[in-house]
Amino acid sequence: MLRPGLAWVDLLMRFFRVLSVFAALLLFVGTARAQNLSPLAELPDYRRFDAWQGTITREEFTRRLEALYAPHGGWQAFIRIDPDAAVIRKTSVPLDDLYTLRFAASEAEKKPLPPVYWRPRAALPPTDASATDKPLAGLRVALDPGHLGGRWAQLEERWFRIGDAPPVEEGEMTLRVAQVLADRLRALGATAELVREGDEPSTPLRPADLMDAARRQLAEQGVEHPRETSGGAADPERQFSVPWTSDMLFTRADIRARGRRVNDVLKPDVAVCLHFNAEAWGDPAHPALVEKNHLHVLVNGCYGPDEVAKDDVRFELLLKLLNGSGAEELAAAEPVAAALAAATGLPPYQYTGQNAVRVGSNPFVWARNLLANRVYECPVVYVEPYVMNSPEVFARVQAGDYEGTQEFGGVPKRSIFREYADAVAAGLVERYEGRVSVP
Ligand SMILES: [Zn+2]
Repeated sequence: MLRPGLAWVDLLMRFFRVLSVFAALLLFVGTARAQNLSPLAELPDYRRFDAWQGTITREEFTRRLEALYAPHGGWQAFIRIDPDAAVIRKTSVPLDDLYTLRFAASEAEKKPLPPVYWRPRAALPPTDASATDKPLAGLRVALDPGHLGGRWAQLEERWFRIGDAPPVEEGEMTLRVAQVLADRLRALGATAELVREGDEPSTPLRPADLMDAARRQLAEQGVEHPRETSGGAADPERQFSVPWTSDMLFTRADIRARGRRVNDVLKPDVAVCLHFNAEAWGDPAHPALVEKNHLHVLVNGCYGPDEVAKDDVRFELLLKLLNGSGAEELAAAEPVAAALAAATGLPPYQYTGQNAVRVGSNPFVWARNLLANRVYECPVVYVEPYVMNSPEVFARVQAGDYEGTQEFGGVPKRSIFREYADAVAAGLVERYEGRVSVP
């Protein structure tokens, strides 16, 4: 028999034990309702998929998923393909928060696709056969000059400088290409608009607003005591610091804001993301020049298992898969890549990792999941010609924009901006010209 004093202690111990079980339960329920979202992502609204019920067969759904969007697998943990429906986990936890997308029983029984803001080539108005100088009449194009340039160029690490020469800033170069290209496309009859007109960010957020978000992201990555200062672009440990992470979140926020502008305001039939490629250059004040130069063009696809596991990314993957933008992207990317290859003479870039996969029949075209080509819901052609830190491209960028040709290593070359813009325009003409009404 216990003495009375001990019985009290025992009771108290039991009380705390029960309390701790309750606390653990509450904590479990709390975390069990947490979503696995990318930084700055919104909760996906699966009701949007109601419009795509019965619009795709099981075979086509499976083919798009396995061949284009998730060729490395990983989707099986989140999407179950039944005979008549795909059962999709809306959240990572709880496991029973599911969305059921019914398949069409056959090609003949497919329901018509719901209206979207962009039109596939087959739904564009036919061109006037007598107006051969306007092959792009009726086409709406959004031109997205990659990055920001200007006062943001160093922050976004798209800036380097050699000696006393003016700095190379990718965001300024892509803007110049977009301006030349917009003029070309308008002359060909298209409506062409720029997603950004200068170096003003599309997002109202600034890096200083994203410090807490940066700390949360670093904690999620397992960085328990992140550095509060960063040594800048030459600091190899900068990705473990709060300033660097908030800068990167700012660039992501800007791309998301551009996505809202593309999807809600511009509503183009096709978006073209304009970039210049680079090889690692190390310290931007003393960059490495490399003798490599190459070209590739991206369509959306090749989501890795860790990306499919993100609740927002999985939703966006499925939206792209269902809305049919993939076939349109490939059909536009191939002639754009062919025109750029012919104009530049560059060899195809080869990815060696798992983050991209070759698709279609053109050796320059790859599928890769990037924020821009994922959140822009229309078909996106993402263009990556020229290595900025190769000696020839560096010299051509320093020469600026000019009429006619100038010699580089004894070879006459057009302005790199005009060569780039004219090739993309030629590729789009190849894709969209000759539309006739079917009687
Ligand atoms: Zn870029």
